[in-house]
Amino acid sequence: MHNETLRPESPPDDLAGFLPPLQSPTGVAEGTLVDKYGRRITYVRLSITDRCDFRCTYCMAEEMTFLPRDAVMSLEECLRVAQVFVGLGVSKLRITGGEPLVRKDALWLIERLGTLPGLNNLVITSNGSQLDRYAAPLFAAGVKRINISLDTLKPERFRQITRIGDVNKVLRGIAAARAAGFRRTKLNTVMMRGMNDDEFVDLVQFALDNELDISFIEEMPLGDIHGRNSSYISSDETRNLLSQRFELTPSGEDSGGPARYWRIPGSETRVGFISPHTHNFCDSCNRVRITARGELYPCLGQNDAVNLMEILRSGADDQALRQAIMDSMGIKPFGHDFSHQMETPQVVRFMSMTGG
Ligand code: SAM
Ligand code: SF4
Repeated sequence: MHNETLRPESPPDDLAGFLPPLQSPTGVAEGTLVDKYGRRITYVRLSITDRCDFRCTYCMAEEMTFLPRDAVMSLEECLRVAQVFVGLGVSKLRITGGEPLVRKDALWLIERLGTLPGLNNLVITSNGSQLDRYAAPLFAAGVKRINISLDTLKPERFRQITRIGDVNKVLRGIAAARAAGFRRTKLNTVMMRGMNDDEFVDLVQFALDNELDISFIEEMPLGDIHGRNSSYISSDETRNLLSQRFELTPSGEDSGGPARYWRIPGSETRVGFISPHTHNFCDSCNRVRITARGELYPCLGQNDAVNLMEILRSGADDQALRQAIMDSMGIKPFGHDFSHQMETPQVVRFMSMTGG
């Protein structure tokens, strides 16, 4: 297993070619977010709840203790944080969780985000369970695209993976998204050996039949869940498997995310692979994450964070928030060190905490 990215020991000496011309004394360009490796941050993933109506085995423990209500950012606080980021040049915002659509009044927030000038790309990641109700209002609110998690098409297996979920409800949600006007909806499938690897072909066929994109995700070692080693499958293995059934042609397309895409000629469907283990995407990272409790994580795979909640609740003005966000660029690491061969979790929080 190898990472393609070479990790510099220290930031490149000369960032003149990377950075926009206006520089503050700290080396951060005024009005934009650029980290010490010269990467411009234009994408924020905002988790609006740690709660979920599923308990996917790779994401959560069976017994989860969720945050008390007052430890979670209010929707007004979420909006304020988003506004400050947009003022700093962020143009893409993904609403995630937990399951964002189980948060009461999530639509209140999304409708307001949909009107923020400069926020060109408001998107959401959902497990699909509530989409039959919410797809139309989300589309009306200006959400551009939806990612929907789907690891299996089989009801029994779906219940086993999610511990609670009903696949038919999710399938109705996928249909509702299309009926509401969403295009290029993307399925996210976590690859698990012995669990869903016999369905990868069927899932791609489902994507083809329903004019969806699909991304296969290498399982990441987040949270204390044992037995990941045995279920890990690399993107390359899955791509080889799919190539026996579908003609996959490499596509240079970039959706602004870590996925590398292949196309199936004669269709609009893109097949993506998100490969934190085997094709590390850190060198072009353009994003940060905000947890439901208001922590800014510059990297999904590291434990350093900045506490925005403290600032939000201190009575400080937006300038303090802005400054804290700009300062966080100084702790954004070059990359993560995920390894599927470690039994102990490398990052102690669950994906539902940080937002996938
Ligand atoms: N509840 C929503 C959903 O399931 O789409 C949004 C949040 S979920 C944490 C976001 C994505 O993270 C999902 O596609 C899920 O499959 C993925 N995910 C969760 N835990 C993961 C892990 N340990 N490794 C890789 N992907 C994971
Ligand atoms: Fe919930 Fe999404 Fe995590 Fe599954 S992956 S438990 S749906 S937050």
